[in-house]
Amino acid sequence: MSLSLSAEQPDEPADADDGVWLECIECGDTFAPFDDVRYTCDECDGLLEVRYAELPTFDDFDGHGVWRYADALPFAEGVSIQEGATPLYEVPRLEDEIGVEALRIKHEGMNPTGSFKDRGMTVGVRVAKELGVGRLACASTGNTSAALAAYGSRGGMETLVLLPAGKVAAGKIAQASLHGARILEVDGNFDACLDIVQELANQGEAYLLNSLNPFRLEGQKTIGLEILEGFLADYDAVPDRIVLPVGNAGNTSALYKAFRELVQAGELDEDDVPKLTGVQAEGAAPMVEAIENDADEVRRWDDVETRATAIRIGNPVNAPKALPGIRETGGTAVAVSDEEITEAQRDIAGEGIGVEPASAASIAGLRKLRAEGVVDDDERVACLTTGHLLKDPDAAAAAGSEPEPVPADTDGVLEQLSE
Ligand SMILES: *Cc1c(COP(=O)(O)O)cnc(C)c1O
Ligand SMILES: [Zn+2]
Repeated sequence: MSLSLSAEQPDEPADADDGVWLECIECGDTFAPFDDVRYTCDECDGLLEVRYAELPTFDDFDGHGVWRYADALPFAEGVSIQEGATPLYEVPRLEDEIGVEALRIKHEGMNPTGSFKDRGMTVGVRVAKELGVGRLACASTGNTSAALAAYGSRGGMETLVLLPAGKVAAGKIAQASLHGARILEVDGNFDACLDIVQELANQGEAYLLNSLNPFRLEGQKTIGLEILEGFLADYDAVPDRIVLPVGNAGNTSALYKAFRELVQAGELDEDDVPKLTGVQAEGAAPMVEAIENDADEVRRWDDVETRATAIRIGNPVNAPKALPGIRETGGTAVAVSDEEITEAQRDIAGEGIGVEPASAASIAGLRKLRAEGVVDDDERVACLTTGHLLKDPDAAAAAGSEPEPVPADTDGVLEQLSE
């Protein structure tokens, strides 16, 4: 199967463009990458992946941020706002408390618009320019719309976003709005928004930049490449495990692809590939259900609910790419409650790192798997925190302490402090 870790590098087909082509993960059909707009396979509607005649090596990487990894991407440059090169924080108190050999937090909230979506957009908007499309569009739980609006405006393009009404955190709508996106609030959940925007894209109304778009995932591969380089520099070894929140499972798919390409290039031993470990909220956990049941397909959940709005998704579109990623790397998936997410958000904040609720799911999941003995005490682990605290100020305020009203005099303040 093309998605196995030991898959051979395929031969370059005639329809490749400068050593780049699209390949269906289901039937293997190949397509020219930039001649027509296409999101899925013409033959079987399967998901597409970008393939390269030449695979990158660590020696090829040069520069800073996402475009350091140009040799693993379809272009040498993109529509850029200096995305990537995010911190890989040490978190000694959490490391001690959870009880692993090493724990680092890769904080994707430190990207230009405050989430990892920027890594996908810098590539996706570059591809949109290559294709010569007019309007860019996405369905979003918030962060994709913020990134699309910013990168679209940077690229001088029109942007349209469909959001589930009442279910998007305030910071994210503010971003999409100020960066000039046309915002449609849909009376339905994220999955309904995505159904509609896919229909619009198929009718040629807009270019789709959800993670169904295979080029976005190319940009997101760089999260994995940065984590590997960071661990190699600090520990002389890649991490044993990477724990990440899962919504549409784009990152899970992208990280797996990054590792597969390094294995194919002979740069990473198959046995050393980090165990991809996905975390979902209990109220939106179709991937966890599929992993627990050893199912080939993910069952769509029609009713989803969680405080972690960025992962409030019942139909993870990238599941066919992500399930093999979790299984082939020896990883797993776990669900956590909203209370466990909020507790983790507070504990991460206690290390000085501010993340939004969905991001905290990674630490909550690791904590649970360590307590269950699924994660060993000798593991070196990277947890991905996907978005910044300020994205969802209401959730942060609710999780934090209450401001105390005091009179405007020192005695009154001292009295309050003595309580
Ligand atoms: C988009 C997003 C996710 C979900 O990522 P997938 O790649 O769709 O699984 C998780 N957290 C945050 C903050 C996000 O913006
Ligand atoms: Zn196909």
